[in-house]
Amino acid sequence: LTSGLETAWNKLKGEEVLSKENIVEPMRDIRRALLEADVSLPVVRRFVQSVSDQAVGVGVIRGVKPDQQLVKIVHDELVQLMGGEVSELVFAKSGPTVILLAGLQGVGKTTVCAKLANYLKKQGKSCMLVAGDVYRPAAIDQLSILGKQVDVPVYTAGTDVKPSEIAKQGLEEAKKKKIDVVIVDTAGRLQIDKTMMDELKEVKRALNPTEVLLVVDAMTGQEAAALVTTFNLEIGITGAILTKLDGDSRGGAALSVKEVSGKPIKLVGRGERMEDLEPFYPDRMAGRILGMGDVLSFVEKAQEVMRKEDAEELQKKIMSAKFDFNDFLKQTRTVAKMGSVSRVIGMIPGMGKVTPSQIRDAEKNLQNMEAMIEAMTPEEREKPELLAESPVRRKRVAVDSGKTEQQVSQLVAQLFQMRVRMKNLMGVMESGSLPTLSN
Ligand code: GDP
Ligand code: MG
Repeated sequence: LTSGLETAWNKLKGEEVLSKENIVEPMRDIRRALLEADVSLPVVRRFVQSVSDQAVGVGVIRGVKPDQQLVKIVHDELVQLMGGEVSELVFAKSGPTVILLAGLQGVGKTTVCAKLANYLKKQGKSCMLVAGDVYRPAAIDQLSILGKQVDVPVYTAGTDVKPSEIAKQGLEEAKKKKIDVVIVDTAGRLQIDKTMMDELKEVKRALNPTEVLLVVDAMTGQEAAALVTTFNLEIGITGAILTKLDGDSRGGAALSVKEVSGKPIKLVGRGERMEDLEPFYPDRMAGRILGMGDVLSFVEKAQEVMRKEDAEELQKKIMSAKFDFNDFLKQTRTVAKMGSVSRVIGMIPGMGKVTPSQIRDAEKNLQNMEAMIEAMTPEEREKPELLAESPVRRKRVAVDSGKTEQQVSQLVAQLFQMRVRMKNLMGVMESGSLPTLSN
């Protein structure tokens, strides 16, 4: 998925703004990448539409390139697609919390029982496992062994008792022992069948569980979302646990479950060890899918710093080519507000090879500029021509700021270069592609 999306961003390199035209190709790549990741077509369609709509209306944020901007929009939309926030486990207000696990055979239910107990124990909760898979003695043994491994009691009643009965007995036992959380394992089938569903319904009725979690294998891709939907309609579930995310699953399951079924993924399994279970963080997952490092926090910071008024004022100045030293100062301070130059550079992907000494130089440069601008009179700041015309003024600024005359001359020259560049940019804008400004 990541490499497909990277092609999409690369196509925007060198563009000034996101437009209806220049996002066509990147959006096609995004669509393809999602389909290849096994996200279902209707989900992909809605996703692409929503991202396109946002991208075209977004306008310019100073210092943020369109490809970074698009990454941000796609990221936020991915987070929304996966439910936005972390979906926490719910605990009963009084008495034991009952968590019923369901799912097809081999998806990792029994493993999850022990992993979940291990996870909750670390939060200071006492747990008990209930062996509700009565069809294979091996399943009961497996749960007992895993229970021992994480040091949690396991309630078993052999293979001759009905699962709903075992569940009831287990719950009674947990109440007596004042256990906080009871986790009930159940039998799975290779495919959905009526016997399994009926049995699950019966167990659910007997337990009145706080959470009914469907365990799904991430490797099943789109099928995972369909399963969550079906189980929810049949027995009513509160969420899903996605296992085997450590394998070479294409991520489509994580993307589709919430959107298709309406039920959140609450936890994910990333390996066979007892520690390999964690909450499902939509934002981290989106970050991992995009693989774009910290470009997101960079864009967020730029958005924060760059207020709308500033942007509009700057644009007016640019339009009238009156960009002066006050604007210059504001711009350098915007960079300063975003953190040190080194941090900002560090956040830009592909900029990893900047040496520490280069960064120190850049930072020093900014400080020098500020010192020199501060040594100018208000009139000089507004009319840089005064400095351009008068060596005497430049000398005064140099002395007052403790810099050399050469440095002052360079700064003045730089401002005029910027004016020229902005005039050119203005030409582009007047020819019809004036960017709208964002908030
Ligand atoms: P059940 O039939 O649903 O109870 O599935 P099990 O808990 O018996 O797990 C089936 C197999 O999947 C076992 O070999 C587990 O070790 C393995 N497994 C479970 N969860 C994960 C996971 O998150 N990652 C990996 N790689 N393997 C897992
Ligand atoms: Mg099992």
